[in-house]
Amino acid sequence: MYDIAIIGAGIIGASVAYELSRYRLKILWLEKENDVSLGATRANSAIVHAGYDPPAGSRMARLNVEGTRLMPALCEAVDAHYKNTGSLVLAFDERDRSTLRSLKEQGDANGVPGLQVLNREETLAREPALNPDIVGSLYAPSAGIILPWELTLGLAEVAVREGVDLRLRQELQTIRYEADHWKLETQNETYQARRVINAAGQGAEKIHRQATEPAFHLLPTRGEYYLLDKAVDPQVSHVLFQCPGPLGKGILVTPTIHGNTLIGPNAELIEDGEDTSTTYAGLAEVAQKARRSVPNLRFGENIRHFSGVRANREVDDFYIAMHDKGFLDLAAIKSPGLSAAPAIALYARELLEADGLEVQPREGWNGRRKVRRFAERSPEDKAAMVDANPAFGRVICRCQTITEGEILEAIRSPIPPVSIDAIKRRTGAGLGRCQGGFCGPRVLEILSRELGVDPAEILQDKDGSYIVLGDNRPEVRI
Ligand SMILES: Cc1cc2nc3c(=O)[nH]c(=O)nc-3n(C[C@H](O)[C@H](O)[C@H](O)COP(=O)(O)OP(=O)(O)OC[C@H]3O[C@@H](n4cnc5c(N)ncnc54)[C@H](O)[C@@H]3O)c2cc1C
Repeated sequence: MYDIAIIGAGIIGASVAYELSRYRLKILWLEKENDVSLGATRANSAIVHAGYDPPAGSRMARLNVEGTRLMPALCEAVDAHYKNTGSLVLAFDERDRSTLRSLKEQGDANGVPGLQVLNREETLAREPALNPDIVGSLYAPSAGIILPWELTLGLAEVAVREGVDLRLRQELQTIRYEADHWKLETQNETYQARRVINAAGQGAEKIHRQATEPAFHLLPTRGEYYLLDKAVDPQVSHVLFQCPGPLGKGILVTPTIHGNTLIGPNAELIEDGEDTSTTYAGLAEVAQKARRSVPNLRFGENIRHFSGVRANREVDDFYIAMHDKGFLDLAAIKSPGLSAAPAIALYARELLEADGLEVQPREGWNGRRKVRRFAERSPEDKAAMVDANPAFGRVICRCQTITEGEILEAIRSPIPPVSIDAIKRRTGAGLGRCQGGFCGPRVLEILSRELGVDPAEILQDKDGSYIVLGDNRPEVRI
């Protein structure tokens, strides 16, 4: 019998698993995919929002501002990248300028530090590539950028190392309360837990409706993106927003941790919350609107399109609620869910404690992890790494300078990767200009060799995404 079962291994499940791993609790963590961070958490804008968007005084505002404050230290603890870029909301006319004033008032009330309305010249001095027609901006110095899947992995690896029982490829199908515990059935296992935390993203509504009365309805809202190559002019150094609308924060242009330029997302209501396709119309809309902020964006330097789906609902708020029998919903975690995640985890613990959960700190808990990244080391360190292990001398991904040594360390990490994209999320191999065109086959060979499986069984990404055709692949066996 587990004390707690967490459903879903996105940033919310991972933040909660990390937080609860501090205590003497027996924790089960179920995820339907073959890795953590395969839902909304892997495909989004990766912005740590300052917190002027949510309505003044709302819980979402408090969680956003608090999460953003906690983010740098949390990233540092689990060795995930964080960059404090600051953000600008751009105004193109008088109506936008009045929106900036309202956002500033709202942000001040929410406790966002250092907000400033800038005039045209001050704005252009910060970002010379901007449309010269702008009339001003709202500057938020506390905004930043992260790699969401890297942070999720960092939190998850610590949680697993500290005893959380993560079960991948376990899709919760039915949940029922029996006498004094929850019975959780997946496609092939049955588990029991005293309490349940529903952090299942697009799957949260279905789980909620089995556990308690209907209370929210998800409205999957897709956003599409361009990712431009590194070091392509014009470069921007802040997160650049346009004034927000009812479906989202508008089209943004932002630097990424790896020095690319990310552009998007639009906002399209869709039926299927798992539909992450991209469309000609969606991308055309993104390009057209983004050029209003930065006219000379070079879309010809695009290296990847992708889309992510927001777990929006009718009300502009997360659905966080503690129900009878220890069932906690952390649902409809729309934007700014990434930014708020560290604070949502603390709030979840408070709600569980108020519900009677006893939390006793575990002795020796270590919330830190370290990753060896060859490209970020000094020349002396690099030489020492290669001397100690020649695999660090074999560069597998040329675009990002990722070595075989790093890939081998990832394969032996607490949550072993089973796909080429899982290696990408752990090491960065395949994130560069060629998007794995060069290193993909070499990563496949290493995975096949190290896992002792036929190359035909290696996945690109989710289950079923085979790359190589061969007689050993279950679907093609005749
Ligand atoms: C286009 C877009 C842009 C965004 N931009 C930002 C931004 O810049 N800044 C920001 O702060 N926020 C942003 N967000 C919001 C942010 O991405 C989300 O709030 C956050 O990722 C939600 O995390 P989650 O863990 O709730 O959901 P998810 O990451 O979707 O995780 C849910 C997990 O549950 C699993 N699951 C589902 N059903 C089951 C089941 N039955 N059994 C087992 N497992 C199950 C899924 O496989 C998934 O792994 C954006 C979102 C989108 C889509």
